[in-house]
Amino acid sequence: MDYISTRGSAPTLDFRAATLTGLASDGGLYVPAQWPKLSADEIRALAGLDYVETAVRIMTPFVAGVLSEDELRDLCKAAYGRFSHDAITPMVQLDHRHWLLELFHGPTLAFKDVALQLLGQLFEKFLSGGDQDITIVGATSGDTGSAAIEAVAGREHIRIFMLHPEGRVSDVQRRQMTTVLAPNVHNIAIDGSFDDAQAMVKRLFGDEEARGQVTLSAVNSINWARLMAQIVYYFYAAVRLGAPDREVAFSVPTGNFGDVFAGYVAAQMGLPVARLIVATNVNDILHRALSNGDYSAGMVTPTATPSMDIQVSSNFERLLFDLSGRDGAAIRAMMADFDANRAMTIPEDMLTGARALFSSASIDGDDMALALRWAQEHGGQIIDPHSAVGLAAARAADVDAHIPIVTLATAHPAKFREAVERATGVRPSLPARLGNLFEREERYDRLPGDYETVKAHILAVARDG
Ligand SMILES: *Cc1c(COP(=O)(O)O)cnc(C)c1O
Repeated sequence: MDYISTRGSAPTLDFRAATLTGLASDGGLYVPAQWPKLSADEIRALAGLDYVETAVRIMTPFVAGVLSEDELRDLCKAAYGRFSHDAITPMVQLDHRHWLLELFHGPTLAFKDVALQLLGQLFEKFLSGGDQDITIVGATSGDTGSAAIEAVAGREHIRIFMLHPEGRVSDVQRRQMTTVLAPNVHNIAIDGSFDDAQAMVKRLFGDEEARGQVTLSAVNSINWARLMAQIVYYFYAAVRLGAPDREVAFSVPTGNFGDVFAGYVAAQMGLPVARLIVATNVNDILHRALSNGDYSAGMVTPTATPSMDIQVSSNFERLLFDLSGRDGAAIRAMMADFDANRAMTIPEDMLTGARALFSSASIDGDDMALALRWAQEHGGQIIDPHSAVGLAAARAADVDAHIPIVTLATAHPAKFREAVERATGVRPSLPARLGNLFEREERYDRLPGDYETVKAHILAVARDG
């Protein structure tokens, strides 16, 4: 499979190079040159397969030419061997039509593990035995950071710098990053928002001087391999509810548009997805974009769902690329317009294309809390605030009554204990696999939200070891 950039001018890469690179050199994002298709019979044949075998069937076409099916299977076994539930992504029924797809049974309790555990394996496979070293630089609104660190801590040839907005991630989230003391792990608390941190990472990737000194890799969801791993659970869930002979809708708590874009890819591959519901909190650029074309970034409002406190959704560019008929020059112009003005209007024909599959909702704190209580009272489930945003959007969605709606449960409730306790009166306890998180030593650097300072720090630390 070849990978091409959404902005049309970066070189075409194979799966290995696209995975190691992350962001394309023209500022775009890599996508497969075409979407592989599964026939209805091939989808039917997924019924009853376990998660790893499902993953192998779905991902083989994307890694073709670089990994054999057996190599891919070995990597999947290693990646998903660290999950605490045998089904990897089990489903729970809430009422006659609403389901939860639990994506938080990995080592750091959020859905990011599903992709990052595999990405860690892929990096190791691609770098072992060689003399190439990579420097991963990422920004996290909370969950990516710990999942990425957990996936690469202690691995040879890899060094990771993770920026988080100081004071805007939960204690559990911070400690899951800062208590990993492996020498290749470097946490940085930035004085600023997640978007400030992400903007610095983006700038570093475009910085010739930095690129001349270190080989930069991305683990944010701009990395295609992450999205690829997330396609799997859409198939896994839908097949269990009767696909391909029955349509299924999904509601996806959304920040960077990565997880829900994986659902879009599943639909392109032939999965009968009736609707993808983009559920945002009050930081609702995606809801505004999909409902009236207004893709404009405002200020970030901190909420009880910090992993979705985002104004700019990087992966939206991948959807725009498809909606434009894969016109790289058009996307380059649109994104330049957006970068200059922090705002753009999505053309009407592209919006019409998007609305054929996507709908959206912006959920405030009160509606999130109501959904948390509804899951508790009607489905006997304590869920996390992000999942509750998804569930609130699912319950409000205009989807034919005979179609089941699966809400992606993106985090374990114990990761956001305060908000869960406020809404339900129940304080979820941390699963035993997190151990003595609150007793462990923390290590991280604090830096001002200033690009040159952060860059100098990263390059100096990378030079010294
Ligand atoms: C990252 C994250 C999201 C948002 O996912 P995107 O792929 O960025 O849209 C939602 N919920 C939780 C718990 C997350 O960690």
